[in-house]
Amino acid sequence: MRAVDHEAPVYLHQLPVPGEERYASLALVNTRFTLSHGQVDLLDDADAAHLWLVRHELLPDRVALNGRQVGRLLGLREALRALFEAYAAQDRPPAESLATVNAALAAAPPTPRLAWTADGPHRADEPDTGNPAAAALSLLAEDATDLLTGSEAAQLTECAAQGCARWFLRSHGARRWCTTKCGNRVRAARAYAARKGR
Ligand SMILES: [Zn+2]
Repeated sequence: MRAVDHEAPVYLHQLPVPGEERYASLALVNTRFTLSHGQVDLLDDADAAHLWLVRHELLPDRVALNGRQVGRLLGLREALRALFEAYAAQDRPPAESLATVNAALAAAPPTPRLAWTADGPHRADEPDTGNPAAAALSLLAEDATDLLTGSEAAQLTECAAQGCARWFLRSHGARRWCTTKCGNRVRAARAYAARKGR
């Protein structure tokens, strides 16, 4: 298990991005991003990928991931990014990206279930426990399907900071940065450029 080093810049930059708390698929896409000192991949090995899925309550802690399953998770991440990009560009995604998401949806779909508690009836789908890694990918693909076909899809925005590559749900029309950190970074770069140009 990878230890969390609080001195590490990766974790210092890990501010929540709007929408991630509601859509795990958005959080998955944002596990790869760029900071001023370079590329960051929060799923860069099997332990990190396992921890991410467990933290998002998509995988039981006791279930280990093999290399092929991590590869599928990363493949799904890139396919989802292509779908988000196509949506924002009002374009159609590459056929293979759509096929990757559909394969994840079909691999281990949850079983629909109606639960009835003190609060009344509610939907409580049960994940496929026989294939937990594939079930995690199915849940992520379903989450993305809900996002892209729901009323919040129009808010999907890629951060305008150079190379950031994170996606967020825009709370108001003018917002262009995923976090204040990205906004500050862009403003600082502009101020620096202006000083140099003077
Ligand atoms: Zn950003």
